Amino acid sequence: MKHEKPSKPLLYYYGIAMLIWLLLNLFVFPLFNKPAVENVAYTTFVNMLYQKQVSEVEVTSTQIAFRSNIEQDGKTYVTVPMNDPGLVDRLVASGAESKQILPKQMSPLVSWVLTLAIFIVMGQVLSRYMMKKMGGGTGNFMSFGKSNARVYVPAQTGKTFADVAGQDEAKEALQEIVDFLHEPGKYTKIGATLPKGALLVGPPGTGKTLLAQAAAGEANVPFFSISGSEFVEMFVGMGAAKVRDLFKQANEKAPCIVFIDEIDTIGKRRDNMSGLGGNDEREQTLNQLLTEMDGFDGKKGVVILAATNRPDSLDKALLRPGRFDRRVPVELPDLAGREAILHVHAKKINLAPNVNFNAIARATAGASGADLANMINEAALRAVRLHRDQVEQSDLEEAVETVLAGYQRKNAVVSPKEKQIVAYHEIGHALVAAKQKDSAPVTKITIIPRTSGALGYTMQVAEEESRLMSKEEAFNRIATLTGGRAAEELIFGSVTSGASNDIEQATKLARAMVTRFGMSDTFDMMALETVTNQYLGGDTALACSETTASQVDQEVLSIIKKAHAKALGILKDHAAKLNELAQYLLDKETLTGEEFMAILNEKEEDKE
Ligand code: ADP
Ligand code: MG
Ligand code: ZN
Repeated sequence: MKHEKPSKPLLYYYGIAMLIWLLLNLFVFPLFNKPAVENVAYTTFVNMLYQKQVSEVEVTSTQIAFRSNIEQDGKTYVTVPMNDPGLVDRLVASGAESKQILPKQMSPLVSWVLTLAIFIVMGQVLSRYMMKKMGGGTGNFMSFGKSNARVYVPAQTGKTFADVAGQDEAKEALQEIVDFLHEPGKYTKIGATLPKGALLVGPPGTGKTLLAQAAAGEANVPFFSISGSEFVEMFVGMGAAKVRDLFKQANEKAPCIVFIDEIDTIGKRRDNMSGLGGNDEREQTLNQLLTEMDGFDGKKGVVILAATNRPDSLDKALLRPGRFDRRVPVELPDLAGREAILHVHAKKINLAPNVNFNAIARATAGASGADLANMINEAALRAVRLHRDQVEQSDLEEAVETVLAGYQRKNAVVSPKEKQIVAYHEIGHALVAAKQKDSAPVTKITIIPRTSGALGYTMQVAEEESRLMSKEEAFNRIATLTGGRAAEELIFGSVTSGASNDIEQATKLARAMVTRFGMSDTFDMMALETVTNQYLGGDTALACSETTASQVDQEVLSIIKKAHAKALGILKDHAAKLNELAQYLLDKETLTGEEFMAILNEKEEDKE
């Protein structure tokens, strides 16, 4: 059996409980059971009787206890009874008083009950303590199997589709479910059954959880929300019990929405877990979920929503018809979507009239809804820091950079030499970008260090968002990425580690060109890699033989080399401008796109 981490403290506390019990048994209970007594021989007892030295006596079937009148401390003596027919006569003759001397023995039943009671109380205390530590609700030792799904009354989710900006396709798909929960009759009359479950898939922070809450708010039904990780329990079998309990509760409250967030935690594919017993607990939980989904009546009005950012890792059984057969993609927002999200989150913010969300939305390609919400808040915080009561465009611009690249490190110590290298590096990027067709215009160049570790960066914002990238654009992009390093080589004759991120990005893009976009000369439209983790960084898996793989590497290398050479060529051709711009950037630390273009163009006119 796999030992889950949380079981360790449990064992630990039980160990302590056992120890306490042992100590009680050894030292405390005997005090009650056995007072100080002295064992004497039967003959001694008889002798003392003769001499009338016994004041009190108690005779039981297993022992005779007595006290003597020659001692004042009332010490108790015990002896073993003999088969002595004359004992009664002797007792009467001695004048000893018959009396209860021995303490009442605790009956075995009583001590058992006491033991049990102590254990239960300890258990309760411990489980309560641990529940609190784990952030769960109340609950006691006996209810580990209960699901801790929180039931939200509609008023509590308080979210509607109006809170979700953009994501129109997703909202439409969910609207149908909401409609079904409102008026199930409309659907059942025709004989239609709605999908039992819908799976929201998309990158993190795109509003999947928010959409599920909004759907519940719109439908005005109870909303059971539980995260996949909450099913993973310390005891084997408990996850499955939780699933059972969750569906039991949901059936009682129908119509309602059950939302399983991060379902990939339990819904991971099972086949690759073979050998060594795999993770039985997770598998059992998943099986129970499948059973429950098959078991309940779709007409009753329990709709199951689930969210994941790893749809490719889900068990195929979950995606089968009758289960999560409806997939609702929740993608990163486009330009209009980003603007809408900014507007939604700025509702409660006091904005200056000069604020232009369109510009911010343009500068944030690739940002998720969560990023944008964060930017608005950062902007508001900055306004407060600067003692303003309105958020201005500059706050928003700074917030974008904060969220994308970390906070400014004004007090970071960067040597003048380093600063110079960084300035040339950034201008290198910008210049190569500006001198190529189809490159997005440079909007900002800065050499103010950031908490993310970046010593400077060049921002480019495309005029319009495009979803397709031509081979030339991809190649030019790689050339731009190599531009920083190329400038260092050209001016300082050596290179620094500062280009590591550029190198990574350039390689990734070049590799994608060869293996996935069919943009290399050697390999035509041959798929050489598949994306395995679309929404989280986009890991890839090789889908070709080893010999081909090494050819791929060759091809990638040659693309990068070509791009690098092109960048070097551009910089050599414009070396004067490179110097002039780098000097200017060193002075100012930050250049806007307009300033950059002005210097670039003015110079060019001078020359001609
Ligand atoms: P996910 O579950 O997809 O990782 P969340 O639903 O938790 O993302 O979103 C995180 C936060 O981001 C939300 O609480 C919300 O403030 C913001 N957000 C994301 N997408 C949107 C959107 N489309 N409209 C408005 N806010 C959004
Ligand atoms: Mg979420
Ligand atoms: Zn760079």
